[in-house]
Amino acid sequence: LKNSSLKFVNEVSLMGRNVFWSFITLLLISSSLAAQDFLIRNVSVIDVAKGSVESGMDVLIGEGKIKNVGKAKTAANARVIDGAGKFLIPALWEMHSHNYEKESLFYLYIASGVTGIRDMGAPLKQLRQWEAEVKAGKMIGPRIVAAAGSPLNAPNPNADARIPETGVTTADEGRTAVDKLRESGADFIKPYSPPRDAYFAAAKRARELRMPVSGHLPSAISLREAIDAGQVSIEHLPISLSCSSMEADVMKARVEAAKNGTKAPPGPSRQQLIDTFDEAHCRQNLEYMRSHNVRITPTLAPGMIRNDIRCGAALQYPTLKYVPEFLLKSWEPKTPAPPCTAADLEQQRKDFEYTSKLIKMLNSVGVGIMAGTDNGDPYRVPGFVVHQELQYLVKAGLTPAEALRTATLEPAKFFGLEKTLGSVETGKQADLVLLNANPLADISNTLRIDSVFLKGKLLDRAELDRMLAAKK
Ligand SMILES: [Zn+2]
Repeated sequence: LKNSSLKFVNEVSLMGRNVFWSFITLLLISSSLAAQDFLIRNVSVIDVAKGSVESGMDVLIGEGKIKNVGKAKTAANARVIDGAGKFLIPALWEMHSHNYEKESLFYLYIASGVTGIRDMGAPLKQLRQWEAEVKAGKMIGPRIVAAAGSPLNAPNPNADARIPETGVTTADEGRTAVDKLRESGADFIKPYSPPRDAYFAAAKRARELRMPVSGHLPSAISLREAIDAGQVSIEHLPISLSCSSMEADVMKARVEAAKNGTKAPPGPSRQQLIDTFDEAHCRQNLEYMRSHNVRITPTLAPGMIRNDIRCGAALQYPTLKYVPEFLLKSWEPKTPAPPCTAADLEQQRKDFEYTSKLIKMLNSVGVGIMAGTDNGDPYRVPGFVVHQELQYLVKAGLTPAEALRTATLEPAKFFGLEKTLGSVETGKQADLVLLNANPLADISNTLRIDSVFLKGKLLDRAELDRMLAAKK
């Protein structure tokens, strides 16, 4: 008995040693994988700047970078990937996300080809911890290019509990709030709708601290005032008033009310804004926006997805199969909505017609448009919803190439990172998505992902599927 137990102990320790060595070998293999060069042969490269396809290209990837984009470069040690029939695009960005779930959903971004995100409001401590885990290689996830922390708002008893807000009323409070946000590690200031005095004081303090202001257009601030105060991006599509002949009167009443400390009169209805659309006035305001290099994140997805929730269509999204059970449960409507009527659908169509008009105006003036989705809310599957946003932008009148730019080159330019990110060019970081079909022929082809390159590391279809299945 003694002998046999000794034998058993020996076997265990032997096994232990074997496991130990295979672990070491595995480490060596995986580190050599990360350091491996890849040559994607004969691939069609999408030039997002020109909106064109360069076919028959060989793309060499190594040391985290795109080493060469050209023809028939031989690379002795590179693993060759057949790119025939495939299309290479820069990886995508999500410019309006909220990452406040109790578990990190970062892998969903990567699995959908989104490698850069801007967080527009979430608890910073948790976000920074996830960011550190990604940097340390403990978790897969996107680059958090910038995070807002707690948005500035007028004191708001109805605030969304998941997004901490900073309530401000006076100029002093506006200034102090900016200092505090900076101390907390916020990269920029996101206004919701702070009062005028607080907004202007906060914007001034942010300028002194070289912190960008990027967020909603507060209701008591006109587009021009926000631009003059230095706001660098406008979130959502709050330009209806700036495109209406009612703007001057409505703003006058709001400023008056702020001065007197009274409640501002109710604003015009959406229908009134539609009816008073003034193209010349709109163009003037948008030209001002463009000439000051102020960009916009229209976030069409929230409205469209809300419609889909109302009409039951959101429950049919194919990407729901990737959503972890706990999250899907929390999204389920308490009471199922009655099906939408033909009149409902007609109203939604008309409403989108007006949205499209604004998007086309922005695009024709040349205002930089960026893709963002306000993900965090129900049925906006992180990462995958960016692809939906691109489809809505095309539906609203952008070409597929213009839509693609809103999630690649335009965000890179916004952050001054266009030398290293945003397009498939020699010398840039190898954050890429290899597609099975041409996104310029049909923007929904961005979802036909063959593989993702994350800083030069290959995640092929099998690996992406494994990631998605593991968390389900
Ligand atoms: Zn938001």
